Amino acid sequence: MNEDAPEYAVNPCKVCAPLGASLAFKGVAGAVPLLHGSQGCATYIRRYLISHFRDPVDIASSSFDEMAAVFGGRDSLTRALDNVTTSYAPALIGVATTCLSESIGDDVADILRHYQPAEGRDCARVHVSTPSYAGTHLDGYYATVLALVQALAEGGPALDLVDLFPGIVCPEDLRWLKRTARQFGLEPCLLPDYSDTLDGGQWTEYCRLPPGGTTLAQIKQAGRARASVELGWSQGARETAGRYLNRDFGIPCHGLGLPVGIEATDAFLAALCRISGRPVPGELEAERARLLDAYADAHKVLAGQRAVVFGDEDTAIALALFLAEIGVTPALVASGGTGALAAVGAAFPALQGLDATFLPDTDFGRLGEAARLARPTLLVGHSKGSKLARELDLPLVRVGFPVHDRFGAARLTTLGYAGSHRLFDDMVNGILADRQAKSSIGYFYF
Ligand code: SF4
Repeated sequence: MNEDAPEYAVNPCKVCAPLGASLAFKGVAGAVPLLHGSQGCATYIRRYLISHFRDPVDIASSSFDEMAAVFGGRDSLTRALDNVTTSYAPALIGVATTCLSESIGDDVADILRHYQPAEGRDCARVHVSTPSYAGTHLDGYYATVLALVQALAEGGPALDLVDLFPGIVCPEDLRWLKRTARQFGLEPCLLPDYSDTLDGGQWTEYCRLPPGGTTLAQIKQAGRARASVELGWSQGARETAGRYLNRDFGIPCHGLGLPVGIEATDAFLAALCRISGRPVPGELEAERARLLDAYADAHKVLAGQRAVVFGDEDTAIALALFLAEIGVTPALVASGGTGALAAVGAAFPALQGLDATFLPDTDFGRLGEAARLARPTLLVGHSKGSKLARELDLPLVRVGFPVHDRFGAARLTTLGYAGSHRLFDDMVNGILADRQAKSSIGYFYF
């Protein structure tokens, strides 16, 4: 915890942990997230995810009433499991706890152990503890990925697989991760994979469970991969899916940041080269050359720019490193998370010596005050910063989660050379549009 943080939050710079759990469960084929607690939590999270992904998101709830809140939610959860099993015939029910069920101390593991499904209606059940007062949506997301792997992964003879465990990225970036692994001759076990379940095509008939997602068979095989690659710095020394597989199944784990920009993408591709024994494909080399060319073309626009960056810790750190790489000072790097951000300035040589302030465990109240002192020319982060951008009269380049006030959040790519190129163009054009709008004479040639 940040000792200096006040005991209240004004517009928090994070979302709640069961939201991250729900997102991760939505990336498993045939899975239904079930929140153990009151119905409002599920409604709020559904609404939040739908506004970002613009696809249907079913999240079940054990719908606590007053009796459950006082005497425990065993009966409520048992009823909810029955209802979900009957209504959806799911492959997996992902049970995540909410603040209320955690506070009263429901023993969900025990409830699930003793649960008896109706005959012929059994399915996998995975439980994750996600009290929101103890973590952010990103923490809930990672805890769920770990719980899935712990519950389902099995060992056996090695396969030509690579386990990919990314932080929260957009569906188009998930597709890029799978494509890239295949370019190296590796079959990806990407967990979670909500690229189809939350960004699918039009249906001719209503589907209760959208197609797509990582199958249970794929998760089982995670224990037989050649290696795993975890993308995101936020978890620090905590237990993760990659570390668990390393310890229990001997699978080498490559811990990297999100591959945003040249250096971080080089590191990701170098890991795939080592795992596969193959060189970087020419197509990716060409994308790298085009991105470098863009850096050179736009350097005059970016010179002297100072950015305020905010988002979950994986994203905020990756963006800060990307900004430093393209010559923009990450003047303020902020997140609602309490894990890695505080130590990041010391950890990355690329961020040392810059006039950069790191603000962990923050809300938009304190972020706004710090942003005014940082003299920014640009904001980079999710759409919860749009009010601040308006107050400061600065452009906001939207990236990360959530993006509720623009269309196409599923395609706001940041990963790889091509994804970074899209982000780079957005930043440069955001600055140009701002200059144009504020110029008394206007200009039309760059
Ligand atoms: S009560 Fe807790 S779990 Fe429910 S929506 Fe609020 S923060 Fe999230």
